[in-house]
Amino acid sequence: MRLLVVEDESELAMLLRQALERAGFTVDNVAGQAAAEDHLAVADYAAIVLDLGLADGDGMTLLRLMRRQRAAVPVLILTARDTPEDRVAGLDAGADDYLVKPFHMPELVARVRALLRRPAAVLDVRLGFADVVLETDSRTVRVGEGVLALSPRETALLEQLLRRGGKVVPRESIEQNLYGFDTPTGPNALEVLVHRLRRRLQDAGAKAAIHTIRGVGYLLADGE
Ligand code: CA
Repeated sequence: MRLLVVEDESELAMLLRQALERAGFTVDNVAGQAAAEDHLAVADYAAIVLDLGLADGDGMTLLRLMRRQRAAVPVLILTARDTPEDRVAGLDAGADDYLVKPFHMPELVARVRALLRRPAAVLDVRLGFADVVLETDSRTVRVGEGVLALSPRETALLEQLLRRGGKVVPRESIEQNLYGFDTPTGPNALEVLVHRLRRRLQDAGAKAAIHTIRGVGYLLADGE
């Protein structure tokens, strides 16, 4: 799942990115309101982490704008403004959660996960198809009884396929969820990744296999 982090302190932005990527998310970082608007215009985000004091404006302006345009994206405000009035203003402007700096990174990650659990249980903790299981909170993958060590991106791809187990996932949808704007990717990045994950599943003796539907996308199916 893809997140937008709007934060103008570059060191904190980097730490947020690392922690969220480790938790299995794809992260786009932007430092200001204008860049955030550009990203929101062209990409679908599962949630947004929003700093309020931005170099080119106030995050609250962006939040109000977003709520006028795309009502459903969960927003977590991350700010040093810590008065009760600030919190009320943030929540009233449409934020779903409010975390005050300094904060503990595991709490932020847990809160982002909680935000994503809300809309119709989009995020199951345990995803499975045939004998392949992914625990989305610990990012553990199992084939039968054995643990399969995958890279974070391989795991993210598997998650996309498991969420639609047995149905075709369009490649645009996978790419959109897997790669942020800053991720250097060649035109064949997804093919290479699919090839690798397919081999890993085969080598582990999985009963589920990745099938390519030419011109459309990929699906996870039973057997070969
Ligand atoms: Ca700031």
